[in-house]
Amino acid sequence: MSHFNSICAKEPHDPRTTKPHILPIYSSSSFAFESIDEGIEIFTNKKEGHVYSRYANPTVDAVAAKIAALEASGTGVEAAAMLFSSGQAAVSTMVMGILKVGDKILTQGNLYGGTTELFVKIFQPFGVETILTDLHDLDKVEDLVKNDPAIKLLYFETPANPTLACVDMAALANLAKQYGRYSAVDNTFATPYLQQPLRFGVDFIVHSTTKFLNGHGNSTAGALVTSHTAQMRMGGSIWQAMKLAGTNCSPWEAWLVHNGLKTLAVRMDRHCENALRIAQFLENDKNVERVNYCGLPSHPDHEIAKRQMSAYGGMLSFELAGGLEAGVKFMNRIKFCTLAPTLGDVDTLILHPASMSHLNIPKEIRLQNGITDGLIRMSIGIEHVDDIIGDLVQAMGE
Ligand SMILES: *Cc1c(COP(=O)(O)O)cnc(C)c1O
Repeated sequence: MSHFNSICAKEPHDPRTTKPHILPIYSSSSFAFESIDEGIEIFTNKKEGHVYSRYANPTVDAVAAKIAALEASGTGVEAAAMLFSSGQAAVSTMVMGILKVGDKILTQGNLYGGTTELFVKIFQPFGVETILTDLHDLDKVEDLVKNDPAIKLLYFETPANPTLACVDMAALANLAKQYGRYSAVDNTFATPYLQQPLRFGVDFIVHSTTKFLNGHGNSTAGALVTSHTAQMRMGGSIWQAMKLAGTNCSPWEAWLVHNGLKTLAVRMDRHCENALRIAQFLENDKNVERVNYCGLPSHPDHEIAKRQMSAYGGMLSFELAGGLEAGVKFMNRIKFCTLAPTLGDVDTLILHPASMSHLNIPKEIRLQNGITDGLIRMSIGIEHVDDIIGDLVQAMGE
């Protein structure tokens, strides 16, 4: 092999002699086989190995294994994880992998806006109905589950966006188990550093890794973690849904999540510390009508949060005394913090749910769930807390 265009086309490296310290980005759509026989064994799931990056990719697998280890750490539960192209892809692949036409999802009205839309606008027309209820009312939940065998999945989010409402994971997971149904939780706000749903018997955990797990706002990806490991292996129902629907994560995005995960614990400590200080500051400010932070004893779900979280995270929301008008004025005067529709980054972000994240949710449902016109959501960063408080003070000033 010595012709110019052959040298151009061939791979130059010998994988047996390269030993990178840092996880490499395997940006390869397919993987080479030693022989025909080996190829057949891998293709038919008889031997572990890589075939094609939509099926599995070494970078993606390594990062997924790390997230599974974080969720399982210290719980004694064996878990597996998969990564997807977004948090939404994680939720939809889980639903495709475990539910079928005629099954129902029982969930709360105050989910992340995109999840409610996904259930209602995409899965409902495919014959998977969604029932919304208040998951705090455990008697009502039990009644619904007991009397409707079609409810196959209890789906919850705790703390929920943007009011930080929390639900009792142990009670809901036990109820699901008792009646032979699945439970799933969106653990994006808490991360496994603050809350490990496997401890409470929850079957499936979804993450938008786009948020705190990455932490730097430079990738979009999602994760699904479960103790039902067989469904996640090659040939399992969730793996099959990912492979065929093509909801897999790119190795580049996975690598960025991996970079962010290295500092998750130290970032979360600072997010929590700053958020608590700011929640206490807001609670005592005369311009503020109400603060939603599940770490404050005044939060209606503080006792639930205390039972299942080790600290309360970086998210909070609040309502200014002047309602919508005061909210808009405040948002336009913010200087140090940034107006951006995401969360979980190292810098402080502010959002107005009624005009941004919850724009597509009907007003009456929004109001029922405490998302009023003047509500402001903050994702507290890891900057010096005085700079954040200084910005709030100047933006609320006369
Ligand atoms: C952002 C978010 C999602 C959706 O994740 P994407 O990565 O944007 O698809 C789901 N749940 C929560 C709580 C979120 O904050």
